[in-house]
Amino acid sequence: MSNFFKKAVLYMQLPEMRLFWYFLPLAILILIIDILYLPKSWVLINVGIFFTLGIIILVNNLRLARLNLEIKLERNEMRSIVYNLFDGIIAYDQDFRILIFNRAAERILNISADRVINQNFTPEKAKDINFSVLGQILYPSLAALVVRRSEQGMFPQIADFTFKQPELNLRVTTDKIIDPNGQLLGFVKIIHDRTREIEILKSKSEFIEVAAHQLRTPLTSLNWIFESLARETLTDSQKELINMGLLGAGGVLKTVNDLLDVSQIEEGRFGYKFENINLISFAEEIMASVMALAKESKIKIYFKKPEEASIMVFADPQKLSIAFSNLITNAIKYNIENGEVVVEIQKLEGQPYIQISVKDTGIGIPPEDVKKLFTKFFRADNAKKIITGGTGLGLYISKNIIKRHGGEIWAESQLNRGSVFYFTVPIDLKLVPPTEAAFGEE
Ligand code: ADP
Repeated sequence: MSNFFKKAVLYMQLPEMRLFWYFLPLAILILIIDILYLPKSWVLINVGIFFTLGIIILVNNLRLARLNLEIKLERNEMRSIVYNLFDGIIAYDQDFRILIFNRAAERILNISADRVINQNFTPEKAKDINFSVLGQILYPSLAALVVRRSEQGMFPQIADFTFKQPELNLRVTTDKIIDPNGQLLGFVKIIHDRTREIEILKSKSEFIEVAAHQLRTPLTSLNWIFESLARETLTDSQKELINMGLLGAGGVLKTVNDLLDVSQIEEGRFGYKFENINLISFAEEIMASVMALAKESKIKIYFKKPEEASIMVFADPQKLSIAFSNLITNAIKYNIENGEVVVEIQKLEGQPYIQISVKDTGIGIPPEDVKKLFTKFFRADNAKKIITGGTGLGLYISKNIIKRHGGEIWAESQLNRGSVFYFTVPIDLKLVPPTEAAFGEE
């Protein structure tokens, strides 16, 4: 009951109740005049009318007051959530007037909200050294190092910004603010500070790199020793032992090299050297380099060439060959005896891309595993059964290389029937990312 009274007192004090409080003395005054000057029956009628009016006004005002109180509470709750979020939130209208700048945005960008709220953030202001980070986030075209993680023009837009001074790694998600009628009101940016995250990943990568470097030298010698021994005249049992050693050392050396590649890729220093290459002769060279393995595995390789004699693309031939030969090697490794591999290069109709596909007649990939193929260390169970030594890093490395070239990579497969791996490379120079990104493709 006391709760009810408390609430009643609270509502009575709200501004929406003003009309009721103005009405009350007026009604009392008119009643006093009535009592003094009118016959009793009229006084009774007037009391009835005022009472009914009073109740209507009171009920309506109370309802309005309750509604407004709820809206205010909700708004405050929202504001408090937005202001206390760990990620920075910036909302601005179409004229780049900043409407919301929460506490995390203040902390991450080292700017107090008072300096920017309600200010029109023009491109000129964005160039101001004091607002440099905020300026680059609001106008990504001004940013020195930005990597888009979503398709251009699509919302929400996701982009990674790297700043040197101050050292910051930010993932910024931008979305439109649209009213219920579909009218664009402005934009909201969510800023996720990944600086610490990236630092930890970097130190992990550095550790792997140092360890891999230490292991590589003795492993290369070991591999070389086994290779020299294999060329000697040996008894059958000696040959078997040496081959086992060669296989083991080769496998570990491949793992170490893959780990080194991964750590360099993730630190954004795989060191790409782009040049114009003819994709057709490039593919022919790679296919020639895997011929010995194909012959040994009794697999036939076919090349479906496009009509054009040459297709020029802007690529790093050494890095692209890692990705391309990994796909062909996999198509041979995970094939069946007397199986086939078909490599096809084609220009995509109406698109600025060349598509390369590698089709095999092999063991296929279980449907639930297809989406996991390009993640680190993933190996499907059916593949593990036939080839025990594998790193599960080849496709992860390939994906990073293709993405760095501005292309996409994906696979289609039917279990026990075969697989097709596709990748694209752009023919339009503008579609090749300008820089190598750190910790590219999570
Ligand atoms: P690895 O071959 O060393 O295991 P990859 O990253 O190249 O590493 O391949 C990851 C996994 O993807 C393989 O272990 C296998 O399960 C699957 N895979 C890749 N290519 C094929 C293919 N052509 N046919 C069937 N499975 C494949």
